[in-house]
Amino acid sequence: MTDAFADVIAANRRYAADFQLSGLEPVAAAGLAVVTCMDSRIEPLTMLGLRPGDAKIMRNAGARVTTDVLRTLVVATHLLGVGRIMVVPHTKCKMATVTEAEIKALVLAQSGVDVRSLDFGVVADQHRALSDDVQRIRSWPFLPPGIPVGGFVYDVDTGLLDHIA
Ligand code: ZN
Repeated sequence: MTDAFADVIAANRRYAADFQLSGLEPVAAAGLAVVTCMDSRIEPLTMLGLRPGDAKIMRNAGARVTTDVLRTLVVATHLLGVGRIMVVPHTKCKMATVTEAEIKALVLAQSGVDVRSLDFGVVADQHRALSDDVQRIRSWPFLPPGIPVGGFVYDVDTGLLDHIA
């Protein structure tokens, strides 16, 4: 089991030997929260010109505004300095190219695991879903009234953000 992490633990020892982030404050220095996809092509901080300490980052498959994201935004806005929120799904996202039935069939075919009881939050129309998710945050009663919320799509081929909602 240990071997599964040997490379990253070794890298962490080197990282800590020259650790630069000691003393950072827990509040978001840039006052920003970003909800984005787990996709490994996305670098949430560098794509926005940010550094560690600047922003609160929430990630899940498809950058969906789930109940857990909303709960986390309450903590981020009221206790951790967040005063603006971006929702950032991306082009070529698996979650925007399959149906619920298809992703369940894919998992079953590739791993033999029956996941039909799960809701994956896939989207048929990415811009529509993004607009709906932004509205979900704007209308969430536990966030500061009037907090700026923006919906953007990140292009994994160009690195550009497109302001959608
Ligand atoms: Zn994705």
